[in-house]
Amino acid sequence: MTQPKKRILTGDRPTGRMHLGHYVGTLANRVRLQDEYECFFLVADLHMLTTRTELERLRQTGENIRHVVLDNLSVGIDPEKSTYFLQSMVPAISEIALIFGMLTTVPRLQRVPTLKEVMQDLHIEQPSYGLLGYPVLQAADILCVRADLVPVGKDQASHLEVTREIARRFNTLYGEVLPEPETLIGDVPTLVGIDGQAKMSKSLDNAIYLSDDARTVEEKVRRMYTDPNRIRADIPGTVEGNPVFIYHDAFNPNADEVNDLKERYRQGKVGDVEVKRKLAAAINAFLDPIRERRAQYERNPRIVEEILAAGSARARAEADKTLNMMKEAMGLKFI
Ligand code: ATP
Ligand code: MG
Repeated sequence: MTQPKKRILTGDRPTGRMHLGHYVGTLANRVRLQDEYECFFLVADLHMLTTRTELERLRQTGENIRHVVLDNLSVGIDPEKSTYFLQSMVPAISEIALIFGMLTTVPRLQRVPTLKEVMQDLHIEQPSYGLLGYPVLQAADILCVRADLVPVGKDQASHLEVTREIARRFNTLYGEVLPEPETLIGDVPTLVGIDGQAKMSKSLDNAIYLSDDARTVEEKVRRMYTDPNRIRADIPGTVEGNPVFIYHDAFNPNADEVNDLKERYRQGKVGDVEVKRKLAAAINAFLDPIRERRAQYERNPRIVEEILAAGSARARAEADKTLNMMKEAMGLKFI
């Protein structure tokens, strides 16, 4: 008998278009593992509410949901093989999150490092109950389909710790029901922004988007941050930690070209213009098939609705099953 496939769950908040950071952090692993695993990809619209509540911005949610699904499709995640679903269309997630809320403490959640980072970045003085509970809701996303593996960027690792602790606590209290899912970090755990800031991010306006056209990519690469000490091309430069070379390593498959550029850069024998021109060409070559696939999918104007409606029905059945298993283990099945 063949073993059933193990499961993946991961997802994205519908806060905008997806960028190269998302690709190296998590999308690449989704593409690579889509045949080996049974995959569930969620569009986390309820998670979006943790940092976004103004009506004017919420009005963009529909458009952003479309972007997120099309971006996932465009990198080559086949909707025939994987299940895409909308978090708010699976009500059991919210009920599972409520139960999980009883299995972790407030100080534990206050210690999650991303909480402080988000509060700092977005100038939030006091976290809402929902923002504090972000990792609890995420545990419910992951465990509602009893996932084994979660491919994410490095910033999510501390959240996954909370998921595992909650699963362990549940199993200790009520019996083995939930898996303790593993974290899979991408090849580039956190991609730097074009401005040299630690993280490429929608909110920091330092991203190259998967849907950017070739001209936009050229412009963005032209104004990329490099070695600040190198004010002339004949000054030896630093390659390590230099965003231009981090991107070359990540997106330029021509290793000979990259090594040649690095060597000449270290010796002060190449200008930024050439390094950047070759980088823009490599990124555009990488994005071309992604652009083509996106254009193909966009030809069907109902594609996103169709995929999410079918996928959410599947996820709903799976999450209801998990919630039932949990309630049975907890002695909460009264009738
Ligand atoms: P942004 O910070 O750009 O607004 P986000 O972190 O809000 O994006 P999410 O939807 O929360 O986007 O993240 C989707 C996935 O992409 C997560 O697994 C996250 O770790 C990963 N990710 C986001 N930005 C990067 C990055 N710069 N490098 C690597 N992985 C990233
Ligand atoms: Mg995030």
